[in-house]
Amino acid sequence: MSYLSQGDPDLYAILGREIHREESTLELIASENFTSQAVMEMAGGVMTNKYAEGYPGKRYYGGCDFVDEAEDLARDRLKELFGAEYVNVQPHSGSQANMAALMTFVNPGDTVMGLDLAHGGHLTHGSPVNFSGQLYNFVSYQVSQNTGRVDFDSVYKIAKEVKPKLIICGGSAYPRFIEFEQFREVADSVGAFLMADIAHPSGLVATGLHPSPMKYCDVITSTTHKTLRGPRGGIIMMGKDFENPWGKIAPKSGRVKNVSELLDSMVMPGIQGGPLMHIIAAKAVAFGEALMPEFKSYTQEIINNAQAMADGFLKLDYKLVSGGTDTHVILIDLSNKNITGKLAENTLGKAGITVNKNMVPFDKRSPFVTSGIRVGTPAITTRGMGHVEIQKIVHWIDEAISNLNNEDVLKRIKSNVNNLCLNFPIYSH
Ligand SMILES: *Cc1c(COP(=O)(O)O)cnc(C)c1O
Repeated sequence: MSYLSQGDPDLYAILGREIHREESTLELIASENFTSQAVMEMAGGVMTNKYAEGYPGKRYYGGCDFVDEAEDLARDRLKELFGAEYVNVQPHSGSQANMAALMTFVNPGDTVMGLDLAHGGHLTHGSPVNFSGQLYNFVSYQVSQNTGRVDFDSVYKIAKEVKPKLIICGGSAYPRFIEFEQFREVADSVGAFLMADIAHPSGLVATGLHPSPMKYCDVITSTTHKTLRGPRGGIIMMGKDFENPWGKIAPKSGRVKNVSELLDSMVMPGIQGGPLMHIIAAKAVAFGEALMPEFKSYTQEIINNAQAMADGFLKLDYKLVSGGTDTHVILIDLSNKNITGKLAENTLGKAGITVNKNMVPFDKRSPFVTSGIRVGTPAITTRGMGHVEIQKIVHWIDEAISNLNNEDVLKRIKSNVNNLCLNFPIYSH
């Protein structure tokens, strides 16, 4: 740190302000978390200097002995964590992992099904402003209005009608377990591939607290920085590798026997160049942490906290999409509270509580306004907050939303939030 303070005081000051923000506010964005100091040490280390295009043992550059060791460890640990036969740890982000998987399994113009963005899907599941929606003919499926869960009658009907080459399951704001087995039945009924995007619940999957997609899905993608609590990045996995069903040719190696080789060559050289070796090594550190028994207790506590929070909101007459949660995510429909998602996000921000506005299923408002907010417990659980703190947080959120024009109340909540945060330091030094 002293290097930065002397060499670049401007950026040092900015970093200090961000550290203070993270320490002194309540982070309830469901996709965020706080990595360990060990993960950050690796992510901030000298491996950022190394070019290592290719894969361990098969690089286009010399000097790769030690980054090879790091990537091999990352791959071995990840395989163990999820029971996967194949993994790729190089995608720079979850979106890159999805791009490589889609470009391997389907061709431009092919029909693909994914969860509607307004119903909990993700940008890379067919949004018209994303490569996915531009390259492929995406058809969305939705959740049912009554249950807030995926409407499988309609998923079957759409699948029969549009005959997708691939179906994506999983999303960014789906509070319930992803129904891998049911999706497999739909995919089999129309001969489609099944891809699981477990970017959100992967930490819960790794510890067995969420069903595993490994035996149901042909390919699985995830981020590493959400519930998995690693550095920012992506991964691709297969429960079982299988023979290249398309007779596809890989850009560099020519004829290819297995899908694993196609996925590897789609990540590099297909869509990426040099891998971020410091991040891959930091992923290895995080996977090592996730293999420890403490990580299972942590993920169990994430779910306990989310369910306690959901109960608290229900008691205060908040409408939760699907009526609650199985995971770390709660999606609150604010339409009975006379406040938009956008205004709730701003108001809670003034009270030191960070959430994001979110569309709710069948939302009548635009994505810039929305009728809901998404909250999640991974980050506050990492800080060690539990049942007692959850009760306070629910109370403060409700108080802020009920007093959105009362700056004094918002200020008082913010000072209570700051005091609570002082007792749960993240990076104490
Ligand atoms: C977060 C997320 C991603 C993308 O992750 P980035 O690292 O932000 O690109 C992909 N899919 C789902 C379902 C996500 O929630």
